[in-house]
Amino acid sequence: MTEKKQFRAIKGVRDILPPESAAWNRVEQTAREVFEAYGYGEIRLPIFEETELFARSVGAETDIVGKEMYTFQDQIVQEIVFLREYLRQSDVYYEPGLKALIRKVEEALTSAEIPKTEDNTRRLNRLRELSNSPVGPPQDKLRRQNVLYEIENMDLGPSNALRPEATASVCRAYIEHGMHTRPGNVKLYYIGPMFRRERPQKGRYRQFYQIGAEVLGQSDAPAIDAELVEMLLHFFARIGLGEGSAAGGVKPPLHAGAAGGDLKVAATGLTLFYNSIGCRECRPSYVAALKAALEKVKDKLGPDSQRRIEANPLRVLDSKVESEQAVIESLPRITDHLCPACHEHLAALKQQFALRGIEGTENWRLVRGLDYYTRTTFEITAPGLGSQNAVCGGGRYDGLVELLGGPPTKGIGFAIGTDRVMLSLAETGRLADTAACDVFVTWMGAAAQGHAIRLARKLRDAGFRVEVPAEEMKFRKSLDLANRMGARYALIIGENEIAAGRYALKRLADAVQKELTEGELLEFLSGDRVIG
Ligand code: ATP
Ligand code: MG
Repeated sequence: MTEKKQFRAIKGVRDILPPESAAWNRVEQTAREVFEAYGYGEIRLPIFEETELFARSVGAETDIVGKEMYTFQDQIVQEIVFLREYLRQSDVYYEPGLKALIRKVEEALTSAEIPKTEDNTRRLNRLRELSNSPVGPPQDKLRRQNVLYEIENMDLGPSNALRPEATASVCRAYIEHGMHTRPGNVKLYYIGPMFRRERPQKGRYRQFYQIGAEVLGQSDAPAIDAELVEMLLHFFARIGLGEGSAAGGVKPPLHAGAAGGDLKVAATGLTLFYNSIGCRECRPSYVAALKAALEKVKDKLGPDSQRRIEANPLRVLDSKVESEQAVIESLPRITDHLCPACHEHLAALKQQFALRGIEGTENWRLVRGLDYYTRTTFEITAPGLGSQNAVCGGGRYDGLVELLGGPPTKGIGFAIGTDRVMLSLAETGRLADTAACDVFVTWMGAAAQGHAIRLARKLRDAGFRVEVPAEEMKFRKSLDLANRMGARYALIIGENEIAAGRYALKRLADAVQKELTEGELLEFLSGDRVIG
């Protein structure tokens, strides 16, 4: 007898159920509308890529690549690796093991699941020879070493990884499709899941969702940076995140014009932090100055920060350790070390913010450790989230496309953490309830079912959410179900109603009832279209 097993979603991943998923859809739909109004087009990217792409772009020394990625290889490659390890360790069934390995390699080469290179073909032939050669001590040991040598040096193709972020993929696609030949800046947005093997906690999951956008092209004009931030704040205002926006702001329809005025982030309960992290010219000397200063105060820092002085001194600035804060405040600041060009860029960025009514807080401690990040960096925090309060991170990465083998290209982008946005909306009471059903059609009698089906189709066609019981129900039971489902109206169809040509529409909140003809019914419901 098979054991009964209760399957559960694995650690750190979760289901998003209705009605919550409806709010997610509205937020994502708002992003599409706002971003498209700014001239961005959607890019749909694969969810996995070569591991190497992320290692290069996110950085091999980062936590993300170092320990958080989900990497895997094709099944057949895994089988080859398994057989290789078996041959390395076991004497038992060595010959059948070797034959199985050769068959797998043949199969993988034929189907091109491992690269069809001359070298791989040569190594396969060599394995065949070794397999056919006479066996026996003293040659045996040498033969085994030769087998391992061939298989270890085969090119089994790249390892793949679930994407931990999407900027790398966007840049890969930009290069692969020669998008630099397109007129003007290339403006792209994406929406989808990302994967990082982190310790799950509130606002931190192993499968989480991002809404992101990137601008790639030849210009790094500060107006590009400022417009990108303007678009972000426009989006946040439209979804009603924060104090300034109307309560229940994520109600459909999302009213255009919610961000018509100045984008005063303080008034929407969000905080925009920004900084310039310099460029290849000025950052190295800043990092050196920072490192020297850190060495001097080393004994006042905790073990984590001490370790970072060598590995990545900029990350010390990220520290949340209470006792280190005063020490950090006295460290040299990048702002004082910017080269004239970066200084000018930052000053112009502030002007561009002012032109757009954007209020932000300059924060010299906002940094990124990787070389290709340049100049503008920003982060947005939202209320109701505890320590995981960053809902968006972004910045310039002028060197990235080139690093990935493309033409010299300027780039800037951001990624919004959708899970945290939804949490913040919920925690600050801004998620409007969505009625799962507008009209519940209760019918009794065979003739009534036909009417119910026809009317339901009409109402659905007009955009209402309509429920028709699949089986005949007593009126009282059916009204009870409609109430429990949170339906706004019950439409009652029985023999009397059919005979009179008027249907009874009951508002469930206060039991007020109206008798309406079919035409009146549609007119009445359409006039009352504040579907919550
Ligand atoms: P954090 O410092 O909070 O770990 P991060 O610097 O790793 O953030 P980014 O890589 O810049 O984050 O990603 C952008 C946004 O994606 C973050 O601001 C956050 O809202 C969201 N995010 C990142 N990791 C997770 C996660 N594991 N679960 C949920 N959201 C996440
Ligand atoms: Mg992180």
